[in-house]
Amino acid sequence: MLNVDLHCHSNVSDGALRPAEVAARARANGVDVWALTDHDEIDGIPEAREAAHALGMHYVTGVEISVTWAAQTIHIVGLQFDENNEELKQGLIRTRSGREHRAREMAEQLAQVGIPNAFEGALKHVGNPDLISRTHFARYIIELGVCKDVSEVFSNYLIEGKPGYVPHRWATLKDAVSWIRGAGGIAVVAHPGRYDLGDLALDAFLGEFKRYGGAGVEVVTGSHTPDEFGQYAVVAKQYGLLASRGSDFHAPGESHTELGGLPPLPPSLTPVWHDWRLG
Ligand code: AMP
Ligand code: MN
Ligand code: MN
Ligand code: MN
Repeated sequence: MLNVDLHCHSNVSDGALRPAEVAARARANGVDVWALTDHDEIDGIPEAREAAHALGMHYVTGVEISVTWAAQTIHIVGLQFDENNEELKQGLIRTRSGREHRAREMAEQLAQVGIPNAFEGALKHVGNPDLISRTHFARYIIELGVCKDVSEVFSNYLIEGKPGYVPHRWATLKDAVSWIRGAGGIAVVAHPGRYDLGDLALDAFLGEFKRYGGAGVEVVTGSHTPDEFGQYAVVAKQYGLLASRGSDFHAPGESHTELGGLPPLPPSLTPVWHDWRLG
């Protein structure tokens, strides 16, 4: 069976490795079909593709777009699109554009609770100045010894109601799905188990997602618990969505799921790659 990993990050967004290093790590872990899905950014694709091909992996273009829906941040993964599509490129530029301003406000809040110079500190961990993210702040807070790991940071800082959280307006669901579809790609809901949606809101969300042409949902992801694999397998079937699998790997020693390291999709589901020409 093919080992497919369609969700991970490089230092072009908030991962720690270069795209070619992520490719090498994926291959070393047995991945056959691979997508790099940096947040709101596709600049890593040429390096990722070249490395993947040199290693004998099938490469799929990818991106993870930040969306604001009903006052919540939702991530939409785009796969198998044309990365030269102008509307997609412009949409991603607009989605990224508020990040620096947001980061400066986050740093001001952190300074008030005794964490100084967080903007500069986070920036030291940034590979792409357009893409300063909460993960980079988390790495700085750990470096200072204030927290021991990322999950401790995301329990005490950078989340709603805690210091360093700045609400942000990302792309709309309609725009994100349209950009992906307009570029010939497939839109997939990333890690649905991570959102604070009850059954009713999830139903409204998936209905809207499908109306815009969204086609898939991540079932087996590093951001789900094994219980959630089963739970979202049911959701995929119920809503007639294709199923995806991806580690959401960010950095060695930081991500608890390795590239290619997850169980396969439940066999009753239709994978997003069911009609791709692979091999
Ligand atoms: P941003 O796009 O700047 O809001 O940052 C979002 C990123 O923060 C996500 O893509 C994750 O990499 C990271 N993140 C958010 N919540 C958590 C968490 N609970 N544990 C680990 N990483 C998290
Ligand atoms: Mn991330
Ligand atoms: Mn995500
Ligand atoms: Mn991700």
